[in-house]
Amino acid sequence: MGKPFDIGLERLTGQASTSGAPQRVEVSGRGTFFLETFGCQMNDHDSEKVAGVLLSRGYHQVETPDAAALILYNTCSIREKAAQKVFSRLGEYREKQSEGKIIGVLGCVAQQEGEDIFKRAPWVSLVCGSASYSKLPQMIAQLEAGNHRVTGLDTDTDETFETEMTRRDNPWRAYLTIIEGCDKACSYCVVPYTRGPERSRASDSVLKEVRQLAELGYSEVQLLGQTVNSYADPTPRKMRFSELLLTVADVPGIRRVRFTTSHPSDFTPDIVEAMESQPKICDHVHLPVQSGSTKVLQAMQRTYTRREYLEKIAMIRDAKRAIAITTDIIVGFPGETEDDFRETLSLLDEVKYNSLFSFKYSPRPNTPSLAMPDAIPEEEKSRRLAVLQEKQREIQTIRNEKLVDRTFELLVSGKSRRENQWSGYTTSHVVVNFASQAKELLGTYVQVRITGATPNCLVGEQVV
Ligand code: SF4
Repeated sequence: MGKPFDIGLERLTGQASTSGAPQRVEVSGRGTFFLETFGCQMNDHDSEKVAGVLLSRGYHQVETPDAAALILYNTCSIREKAAQKVFSRLGEYREKQSEGKIIGVLGCVAQQEGEDIFKRAPWVSLVCGSASYSKLPQMIAQLEAGNHRVTGLDTDTDETFETEMTRRDNPWRAYLTIIEGCDKACSYCVVPYTRGPERSRASDSVLKEVRQLAELGYSEVQLLGQTVNSYADPTPRKMRFSELLLTVADVPGIRRVRFTTSHPSDFTPDIVEAMESQPKICDHVHLPVQSGSTKVLQAMQRTYTRREYLEKIAMIRDAKRAIAITTDIIVGFPGETEDDFRETLSLLDEVKYNSLFSFKYSPRPNTPSLAMPDAIPEEEKSRRLAVLQEKQREIQTIRNEKLVDRTFELLVSGKSRRENQWSGYTTSHVVVNFASQAKELLGTYVQVRITGATPNCLVGEQVV
């Protein structure tokens, strides 16, 4: 079974500075780093790779900023609140720099704010957006050499972020980014700006890593991308996304293959055919719709209409096996009328999603929707969100109650503090809490009969 790596080599230590801008930092001996991650699975996985870069340079990962010589924040700016949280966290660590610690900001806020971060938080030494992560080893080397203002803000790159070592947090399920950046241009989204253009990873490199993961004992892999199904293999083999799914599933030792996030416009029949023909490809598609109103979809520049989206849903629902569908929805986009909102509610009735992530629209810097008229008042956004969530809760209650008495295979991923209580995921990504007398189940696959249901999870008992 795979374990997080910790191969401690060199260490980072610092010299105390007295105020303002960071002082030159001398580096020698054995170092420690603390890495906090905000945001999506892509960020989680980027952090695993950043940790790999640091571990291979001799750093040790520690649990608290107090114990670390290097403090890194991998940030998210997709929502206003997430970006604010980063600055408030940076404020908390102002004093740390004067203790000789080095502080770095990675990810979307780094890309968005750029060198302004040095003005707003002069105690920061490293600002690096995700499109520049492939240069991270050189940037760390510059910090080690004593540079105190190091930036990586290029988005003009063909490279994907590959490392020799990734320090994975989960010993059973491995994330693998197969495509970075985004070539779509949704009017509310910072990703094309912060993560740069689409770059797909070579299929042979993806497969090599999957084989290594299987050898280390990982049985589930999740292929990641902002638009994972827009994958375009840069090698002469030109493997399609559906072919890549099938080839990954064929790797001995791999029992489950997931992928997220899919863009509706690029969701083609061959993906459903691959799912039908290979049971190792999980019964789950995350297909963000964002709104049920074609008018709002057009304002969002989502590249599909409600009708076209529903055709994709019909294609997935017609598959030979049941496939769970989940989505993302934004309420309160500028100009969204009550009728538009009702169209979103009626879409929920029509699709009956297995679950969804819902958000109030928040304007982000450098996005076209920032300048759009007819902003929806905050109170009204909150009301719409509550209505939407209540409707989805009713849908999930009915859906989950129908699963009582059925038996599912779970990958066991958690052990409760309560005796004999465990939790795991079905292939369709539903959490099940279940009872078992077994001594150790983590990382194994078990059969569980469902005995109860709530809107968000199932309860069951192991079938032996
Ligand atoms: S598809 Fe749209 S929402 Fe998704 S990352 Fe690209 S621009 Fe953003």
